[in-house]
Amino acid sequence: MEGLHNHYRSLGSTGMQVSPLGLGTVKLGRNQGVKYPQAFQLPSDQDARELIALARELGINLIDTAPAYGTSESRLGPLLAGQRHHWILCSKVGEEFDDGASRFDFSAAHTRLSVERSLRRLQTDYLDLVLLHSDGNDLAALDQGAFDMLEQLKREGLIRAFGLSGKTVEGGIAALQRSDCAMVTYNLREQAERPVLDFALAHHKGILIKKALASGHLCEDGADPVQEGLRLVLEHPAVASAIVGTINRQHLTNNVAAVLAVLGT
Ligand code: NAP
Repeated sequence: MEGLHNHYRSLGSTGMQVSPLGLGTVKLGRNQGVKYPQAFQLPSDQDARELIALARELGINLIDTAPAYGTSESRLGPLLAGQRHHWILCSKVGEEFDDGASRFDFSAAHTRLSVERSLRRLQTDYLDLVLLHSDGNDLAALDQGAFDMLEQLKREGLIRAFGLSGKTVEGGIAALQRSDCAMVTYNLREQAERPVLDFALAHHKGILIKKALASGHLCEDGADPVQEGLRLVLEHPAVASAIVGTINRQHLTNNVAAVLAVLGT
């Protein structure tokens, strides 16, 4: 099957080129306190290895993870050994998930600690992208030192770019005024954050989309909504990539086919 190799998009002004579909990895490391339609088992190492190999074969070059995704980062480290340069790796700071509960720390000190820990877990010496993992109070979260530290870590070369994974229009726009990119919820059911996409387009900033399939709830809507969901997302010219979470190889293949259909190849 044809892959996404000829369809990379610019991530704002970062100079990075990303596949229009990225791999979300919540389900690689965490199955508690998540909002997916069905309960699931974490994939085995062999299944995870095969999923990542398939993603790469299909032209995907972007993986999204976070400290709050349970063992996702520490599993990805060994799984990506020997292929670091193929991938644009995105992780996050600010949310910790321990003993079944989230807590948040947006301080400068925690931000440095978190990025250095992500580097160790992911077995690398740089992260391509780090997003502040908001608790929903985006403006307050942006004002507690994390963004200043991300700027500094970028100057030090530990990260190449940074931004916000937020929940509000005001937060998304405020973050884009100070950073490279935003991760935004945008799907057939929820489009309230569209002004963040429009702002990004006008100011040459990067946009990644989370929950493009409404965390899988869209897929319960009867008719196959994957193509229409991805069409909505990829038609907006600010969008660099839809980060779709899956641990199912057939779904991954279907999602790539849907993207290719949307892009008219
Ligand atoms: P999503 O990508 O909208 O949906 C994922 C769900 O859809 C999974 O349960 C998956 O199940 C299912 N799915 C995927 N492709 C499918 C297909 N072709 N047919 C049927 N079902 C399909 O939602 P998400 O995982 O919440 O978000 C995506 C990624 O965005 C996450 O993995 C994470 O990296 C990022 N994210 C970030 C934040 C944040 O920063 N606050 C929040 C949410 C998400 P299968 O495994 O069975 O395919």
